[in-house]
Amino acid sequence: MKVIVCGYGEIHLKGANRGFFLHRLEKNIKAVLPAGTKVIVTDTRVVVTDYTDEQQTVACLQRVFGLISIKVCQKINYTNPEDILENLRSLKLSGKFKVEINRANKSFPIKSPAFAAQCGDVILQKNSNAVVDVHNPETIVQIEIRNNGVAYLATGVKKGLGGLPVGVSGRALCLISGGIDSPVAAFLAMKRGLAVDFVHFATPPYTSDLALAKVETLCRQVCAYGHEAKLYIVPFTEIGSRIQKNCHDQYIITLMRRFMIALTEKIGLANGADCIITGENLAQVASQTIQGIASNNFVAKQLPILRPLICFDKEEIVNLAKKIGTYETSILPYEDCCTVFVPQRPVIKPNLADVLAEEEKLDFDTLVNNSYNAILCKNLPNTYAE
Ligand code: ATP
Ligand code: MG
Repeated sequence: MKVIVCGYGEIHLKGANRGFFLHRLEKNIKAVLPAGTKVIVTDTRVVVTDYTDEQQTVACLQRVFGLISIKVCQKINYTNPEDILENLRSLKLSGKFKVEINRANKSFPIKSPAFAAQCGDVILQKNSNAVVDVHNPETIVQIEIRNNGVAYLATGVKKGLGGLPVGVSGRALCLISGGIDSPVAAFLAMKRGLAVDFVHFATPPYTSDLALAKVETLCRQVCAYGHEAKLYIVPFTEIGSRIQKNCHDQYIITLMRRFMIALTEKIGLANGADCIITGENLAQVASQTIQGIASNNFVAKQLPILRPLICFDKEEIVNLAKKIGTYETSILPYEDCCTVFVPQRPVIKPNLADVLAEEEKLDFDTLVNNSYNAILCKNLPNTYAE
């Protein structure tokens, strides 16, 4: 019988509230697997059984935060060592290999090194193209000998995503622009256990339905790593135009960002968010200097703003975007509101007093409320299985 055995990482370090983490992990795993699949969470591992499509099940598990390893195993019921050796006789492999024994059952009559040698001999007898190489193996044959008369045999371990189960750290609202950075920021926030919803500021008719569809696709691609989410689409044309008309050119981006944060906080507070996420990155562009970032910070009164990418290099962000599958969508060439209203020379180190003086030229609260009252909310499903 085949089963999938998964290891979890950091949860091992949790003390009294470990049960809370494991409960969430179990819930998240069950949410991505078809009904009927059994998930057993124990003190040391997760065992998945009764699945129909092995490859698809492994692929789904590789998208669950909190798991560090995933291996398809043959489950062997044993009463003596020969039962395990017998199963090895049908193992087909070629090339360099080594055998690793994990002997949880300390009353198993043969010690690990000696049993590894016996297992290796059996494999060599049955596979003329196989050779033992303990330093540089192509295949590691892992045999776990458990206490309860069960052993697990595996020939390959896949890496899990690591991190913590989505949801254990609370909820976040991520500003998503359609660029490369913000989906990666959302992914990293999820990695540390935040369940992420999204907010996007759209400026029709300057930004198109296609630009909006692209943002929705990005959100769905990120949702494939976690859970269902909400996407709040906020009309931003009025705010952008008023800033452009009434305020000094240099401050357009700075002021737009402040409106975005104010609206995000308002949406977040009304919908149970614990924090705000942005894809900002120190010194990447003129608006992301420390002073630019600080000017955004002062807008949010109650929710902290987290910036998972703050110290990443662009190359690192691009590599991650490629790895998680958002890059190709992000580089589709549609306008973002910031590119529509972008000034010739944005202020690089905005002074807060000057920013506030510019902002005084607008009726901040009315503009925020008007936009807020016209928000469209979309429910995005968990897209693991798609
Ligand atoms: P990205 O690649 O995610 O677009 P960026 O490097 O282009 O980021 P900016 O355009 O300066 O950076 O935006 C900084 C951050 O502000 C974005 O990562 C995102 O979190 C937020 N943001 C920018 N534009 C929008 C928008 N139209 N809707 C929602 N959030 C936005
Ligand atoms: Mg952008």
